[in-house]
Amino acid sequence: MRLFDSVNTLVVCADHPEIAAAAQTWAAEKTGRQLFSWSKTGKPDSLEFRVLSFESSGHHSTPPPPNPGPLFPGLGFGFRVLVESGQHSLKTQNSKLTIPFTDEASVENACHCIAALLALGIPVAEFSRRLKHLEPVEMRLELKAGINRCTIINDAYSNDLASLRIALQFARQQSRTGALVLILSDFLQSGAGKKQLYAAVAKAIAEHGISRFIGIGSDILVLRDSLPADFPVAFYPDTGAFLQDLQRHDFHDELILVKGARAFTFERIARRLEQKAHKTVLEVNLGALVHNLNVYNRLLLPGTKMMAMVKASGYGSGSAEVAKLLEFHQVDYLGVAYADEGIELRQAGVRLPILVLNPEPASFDALARHHLEPEVYSLTLLDELIRFAGKNRELAIHLKLDTGMHRLGFVPADLPALTERLRLHPNLRVRTVFSHLSASDAPAHDAFTHAQAAAFTVLYEPIATALGYRPLRHIANTGGIARFPEYHFDMVRLGIGLYGVGSEALREQLQVVNTLKATISQIKEIPPGDTVGYNRNGPVARPSRIATISIGYADGLLRLAGNGRYSVLVHGLRAPTIGNVCMDMTMVDVTHIPAAREGDEVVVFGEQPPVQELAACLQTIAYEVFTNIAERVKRVYWQE
Ligand SMILES: *Cc1c(COP(=O)(O)O)cnc(C)c1O
Repeated sequence: MRLFDSVNTLVVCADHPEIAAAAQTWAAEKTGRQLFSWSKTGKPDSLEFRVLSFESSGHHSTPPPPNPGPLFPGLGFGFRVLVESGQHSLKTQNSKLTIPFTDEASVENACHCIAALLALGIPVAEFSRRLKHLEPVEMRLELKAGINRCTIINDAYSNDLASLRIALQFARQQSRTGALVLILSDFLQSGAGKKQLYAAVAKAIAEHGISRFIGIGSDILVLRDSLPADFPVAFYPDTGAFLQDLQRHDFHDELILVKGARAFTFERIARRLEQKAHKTVLEVNLGALVHNLNVYNRLLLPGTKMMAMVKASGYGSGSAEVAKLLEFHQVDYLGVAYADEGIELRQAGVRLPILVLNPEPASFDALARHHLEPEVYSLTLLDELIRFAGKNRELAIHLKLDTGMHRLGFVPADLPALTERLRLHPNLRVRTVFSHLSASDAPAHDAFTHAQAAAFTVLYEPIATALGYRPLRHIANTGGIARFPEYHFDMVRLGIGLYGVGSEALREQLQVVNTLKATISQIKEIPPGDTVGYNRNGPVARPSRIATISIGYADGLLRLAGNGRYSVLVHGLRAPTIGNVCMDMTMVDVTHIPAAREGDEVVVFGEQPPVQELAACLQTIAYEVFTNIAERVKRVYWQE
């Protein structure tokens, strides 16, 4: 309520008792304050308006009729609200309003809007007309590995221009250089404006570099005339006809965007195009990753550059997918561990500058060919590089200084020889000079961190003098960015924070990126006295329901998690492991979760339980849990 201190009129839903009570107190605090409350259930005399009934024309869980009719044009479902207004402009009059949403949150939001319009004294005729134009932007784009090295983006739930544009943008960001196929259904929209609508679609197709187009439905045929004559297109009257003809299209090495109105059941297409889904998946929330990037971006002064660390397959989340997303969101640099990781990113079409932390002399040629920039950390490595580059070949390099981590890096004694060689070889362009903090997240070692930064600043100067220019300086990793703004220098290197794990101070702000899921393969009733799993380690004390889930230590759920030391989430409840974790499976006790069924989803970590909990159980850190997730666990990328 403190937020509304300078507010005159407050619109509230009286159905949340605590909020309603706080609002009453707020209104009584000062004269002139007006409470404008509405309710679905409350007594009309205490309210400005009341929603008398909701009447749904369809529901998310059941498909709408193929032709939604004129009531809810283009949506196939909607809500009708019968509104009774007590004291305000409507006076006891009942109004029927149509909202193009059915989900609870959207309906409540819409009711707040109606209340606000009433409070503002807008004529009812006006707002019932405008409410119809609200567009649900509810969308969940899923990116999955498809057949023949294709990638599938599945958005089979809605089709309107706004969501098409979002999906195309997402597709282009993920495909970059590759071929992009669009499979699109009719837009189920009213007759008026159809021509302009499809003209806009044709324009969007041209702008987003679609390489071929498949239209399904009857209206969509009009696109044939809007596209260039030699543009590869195919049209089908319905989804079934397309599926029968699927073979002919020979999809391979393409990114396929499947986008259709619900009535066209495009999920059938997606299912046919997707690679067989292993039951165990790591869901990567790309929206959360971008959110986390921005949490850290906000901590930087304008002009400070951002390097995103995507080594070890993007900390297990997937390198190319994550890198392309980061490139789209304009980070300045990417960091990988090995040349091969950098080459993979180049082959996926990533064009950002890439720092390679562990270059090997054998990879110099590949580095140069792919414009990858090596870290140079010793005189030996520098001499190898000079032998490779000679006097003429220009190479971008980065100098690593050891300021106390004692891993890689030049030590102070190397400086005279280092600066001498750099003077003799101006073709080695030093892009940045950097060091690494060994305990940026540990307040107990802050004095050491300050000493590292001070040493870094001192060592940098003679290098810059020898070069005659000032390369960028950077030292801060995730912990350093959050805790030492004074050491951001010219660039920072963000790693684990991107993936949602950060220092205490930011934990509230970061979003969960990775969710590891398995499924229940079988459930058994086990009598007391029996045991579960290898070596009979799991004795059963009472009649028990034991579920076998599709994840084991080979997937990354290590044996330390067995014998009740960890519990997974089933139907929102924790189910402890029982017996030893096996290579591909684990048994969990679901006796207290009667709703659990074979085929149900199990969350190993995610929103709940957080990855830190599994890390603690495995006596390690989240970094290791993420990078231990086996390659055979499919990564599924999604974005709201
Ligand atoms: C991995 C790494 C980082 C990122 O560290 P986080 O703690 O994950 O932020 C930064 N710099 C270097 C040199 C690294 O190897």
